[in-house]
Amino acid sequence: MPNTRTHDIITFATGMFLTPATYVLLESGGREYAATGAAVLAGAHLISGTLFSPDLDIDSAIDNRWGIFFWIWRPYMWIIPHRHFWSHSLIVAPLLRLGYFYVVTMLIVIWGTWVLGRIGIGVPDLHAQTSAWIFDVMRRNPDMVRLFLVGFISGSAAHTIADWLVTGGRRYLRMAGIHLRSDYHNHDRMRR
Ligand SMILES: [Zn+2]
Repeated sequence: MPNTRTHDIITFATGMFLTPATYVLLESGGREYAATGAAVLAGAHLISGTLFSPDLDIDSAIDNRWGIFFWIWRPYMWIIPHRHFWSHSLIVAPLLRLGYFYVVTMLIVIWGTWVLGRIGIGVPDLHAQTSAWIFDVMRRNPDMVRLFLVGFISGSAAHTIADWLVTGGRRYLRMAGIHLRSDYHNHDRMRR
């Protein structure tokens, strides 16, 4: 399995290819539109590959990147089996991580408002207001939402495809009688 560093390099390399490609595809809509669209897609691709990586399903270098918020991903890690469909599929897995992140963030906002309410600083429906604001921004920029989702999915797919290629490549080498020393324990600095 490629380690975290290799996955990062793959994420940046594919991002560097996707950004100009997106710009060229969108150029008919005007330069500003194309530049914004390419930036949104590239940003989503990088965030997805580095912070929302499929390897959040194990105790890896990825959750450390969340700093003090690493615990947000603990329940995800406990629930999702390693390298399973729910973490390492092309489309469902990244969308699930996005949905999971949204739900957890909302729970934190609800809890935060409750705490603030207890000490008399009340914004009772902050989570509803935040959600309404997010969905309003999305409704007004449907193209950008689509580009964000494409980038978010491609960032994750670059990881999953690299994992598949390495696993598949090893299988073919084994069929040809070549055994590679398994470095599974190195997979994303897995600690177990
Ligand atoms: Zn992986």
